[in-house]
Amino acid sequence: MLITELKAKETILSALGSKVFVINCHGCKEIRFPEQEANALQKELSAAGKITGILTTDYICNPENLKLQLDGYAAQIRESDTVLVFSCGVGVQTVAQLLQDKKVCAACDTYALPGYQGVTPLEHDCGQCGQCYLNLTGGICPITACSKSLVNGQCGGAKNGMCEVDPTMQCGWERIYQRLKQLGRLDVLKCPVQLRDYATDERVNKE
Ligand code: SF4
Ligand code: SF4
Repeated sequence: MLITELKAKETILSALGSKVFVINCHGCKEIRFPEQEANALQKELSAAGKITGILTTDYICNPENLKLQLDGYAAQIRESDTVLVFSCGVGVQTVAQLLQDKKVCAACDTYALPGYQGVTPLEHDCGQCGQCYLNLTGGICPITACSKSLVNGQCGGAKNGMCEVDPTMQCGWERIYQRLKQLGRLDVLKCPVQLRDYATDERVNKE
């Protein structure tokens, strides 16, 4: 289970290019999905002539099903420079995995509720941290892809691309670096230090 909350409008707009393809996932929206705010923002983007297409569907965390659906929008996706995803962190990562040459952005932060998230939680995991970093990490979650959940780069302990904590897994930050390099977006690594706000956990617990 999960809660998704729209990021601040300025944060979302600053992540976008000039042409945007939108994906809305309504799979878990009955839990809590900011549908009205998401619709309002999309209307605004549409009025500004920025939207090349919108796919509204459910369970985008199912990669086989999502791939079939994306194939139907290939032209609109090609026309866009950014794919903006309204879903939890698992959904955004699934899209980023399928569209590796495209800038994929998260419109929402994902908070935890006890229970189940996504149909492929092991492949594209989300720690429901409440402060989604995917826009800065090429769509790879630093909370779950790095053994130490580092949010500002590699610890320096990786050997031959493998994690020093768990040598059976690839270093998450090497994966992030390679993805950003592939996208020509290594400049995001020069962003100011991203502080982790642990108060988000408290915020969820109070609700
Ligand atoms: S950064 Fe990772 S854990 Fe946090 S919301 Fe995004 S996908 Fe989930
Ligand atoms: S080696 Fe990489 S994945 Fe492992 S803890 Fe260090 S930065 Fe994280």
